[in-house]
Amino acid sequence: MPHDHHEPHSLLPSDPELRARALETILVQKGLVDPAALSALIDTYQNDIGPQNGARVVARAWANPAFKARLLSDATAAIAELGFAGRQGEHMVVVENTAAVHNMVVCTLCSCYPWPVLGIPPAWYKSDEYRSRAVKEPRAVLAEFGVALLGSQKVRVWDSSAEVRYLVLPMQPEGSHELDEGALANLVSRNAMIGTALAGAE
Ligand code: FE
Repeated sequence: MPHDHHEPHSLLPSDPELRARALETILVQKGLVDPAALSALIDTYQNDIGPQNGARVVARAWANPAFKARLLSDATAAIAELGFAGRQGEHMVVVENTAAVHNMVVCTLCSCYPWPVLGIPPAWYKSDEYRSRAVKEPRAVLAEFGVALLGSQKVRVWDSSAEVRYLVLPMQPEGSHELDEGALANLVSRNAMIGTALAGAE
């Protein structure tokens, strides 16, 4: 089912957790949802699908130039090589940070996010404040996240949508070129792949 980008979020009650619980209760009572299946789904997104997947993609790209080239030309296919695919990750684009450009990702309309590689979006990513300020004053937002840009770097903001989900390929930290992929992945935080942190900085 495609994600409806024009869902009227503003019409939702102010407490989404309460609403979700009410919906779950009704669906279970009507026999439409198996609580065990629901728990398994939530467990999967909390423990198996998360930023650790994206970190493995980034580490592979740093360690393997051929993989990096494939990642930048067809991210969906390259990410699938590591076994990460599925809902909200069908059309991936990877944008590379360099000394000339720092990329950051937002969804100005709602909360589109690459689930197979980053899991569930953090609350701040879904906030009205981030969604508007990331576009209007990205440098100020980055400063608040503690990102120190190079004087040479322009900031490019990518607006995710139901069609395309972006993942930032951070710059590889100095002195990490001898590390193996497992150690490299430990340098890659969720925020580094959204663009609101640098690799190795958290
Ligand atoms: Fe969205």
